[in-house]
Amino acid sequence: MTPADRPELRAQAWELSGGRCEWPRCVLPAEELAHLNSVGMGGNPDGSRETIEDVMAACYNHARMTDGLYSLGGRQAYKRDHAHLGVDLDATPRHMVAAVRALALRNHLAGTRSYAA
Ligand SMILES: [Zn+2]
Repeated sequence: MTPADRPELRAQAWELSGGRCEWPRCVLPAEELAHLNSVGMGGNPDGSRETIEDVMAACYNHARMTDGLYSLGGRQAYKRDHAHLGVDLDATPRHMVAAVRALALRNHLAGTRSYAA
């Protein structure tokens, strides 16, 4: 999905992600919208995948991973790889997940390796 496809959805995703790739531990700038439930991962057979809950801002490679082109990723992988953050991804607003990720990255870079506040 290219940014030109869904400008309003893209703007929402960029606001939620702070313009960064939402893949766990990735620090690259976001370049594309990617589906959390990709066709490749068997998601969204009803066609209702163009919602903010179902997309993420992603760098080039992670957009391809979440869309199943590398046969990795998808929402289950996204959730699994965020498990270390200790947040319920189904119940936590995306901007809060982004804040927790930022804190975890700061702690990691500081050498504490602690994800607790
Ligand atoms: Zn990335």
